[in-house]
Amino acid sequence: MLGVFRYNDKLGRRLVVILRGFPCSWGKCTFCPFALEQSTSTSRVIEDNRRIIAEALRELERDPVERVAVFNGGSFHELPYDSVERLRPLARGRIFEVEERSEFVTMNSLEALVEYYRPRRLVVRVGFETAFEEIREGLLRKGMPDSEMHRLSRLRLEARERGLPVEIWTYLLFGMKGISEESVAESLRVFKRLFDGVIAVRYRKYLPSHPEPAPVSPELASLLEREADLVDWGEEQWVIAGRRGYAPGRSGVERS
Ligand code: SF4
Repeated sequence: MLGVFRYNDKLGRRLVVILRGFPCSWGKCTFCPFALEQSTSTSRVIEDNRRIIAEALRELERDPVERVAVFNGGSFHELPYDSVERLRPLARGRIFEVEERSEFVTMNSLEALVEYYRPRRLVVRVGFETAFEEIREGLLRKGMPDSEMHRLSRLRLEARERGLPVEIWTYLLFGMKGISEESVAESLRVFKRLFDGVIAVRYRKYLPSHPEPAPVSPELASLLEREADLVDWGEEQWVIAGRRGYAPGRSGVERS
């Protein structure tokens, strides 16, 4: 669902700005719902995003917050320049969060984002989903091997050594058939060691071709609530192109 949303949760008072994106350059993840809201029309992407960013700026003026996340159902670097430019006043001096596929995250791209936006802190969220490569590449088809996970883990340390105010967080997917609860617990342990933050996201099936959901035990729920930086159980407002999904339970789509 596109638009501007306010949250007050474990990450504090924050604004989440969901923009329209172009189709993701990877576009192969087996569980991805974002194609439902992407557009190949440049004018549509630009016009929708102008409207949403203007609304976000009005919201910030009305009630300022220190943390702003911008998502576009793909990678931040795939946004049109018109949107990139208009986001500057939202990011400046704030904790500014974006999503990227791992291949967009390099020392040069981090330096360029910090230089351009001048955030207090830049948080880059990357959807590694699981620490198990066979699940990530076999079941999920993420196209982000373990080597990328370790590259980004090192990169965040190197960036900080250069004085860049940068953090790299990852998403952790749970509640899907084929991703055991044991693997989720182990992924959480590995991710906490490799990254600056972990956001656990409950899977929700949006299309018939998507993998099946799985129930979540109270034990896993409580572990995630205790140990993850945020658990996205999904809320009723997370609707992709009018679809609430096929599974019982709630959605989690604040992710790429
Ligand atoms: S889940 Fe993210 S990386 Fe995968 S195809 Fe969808 S937008 Fe692209």
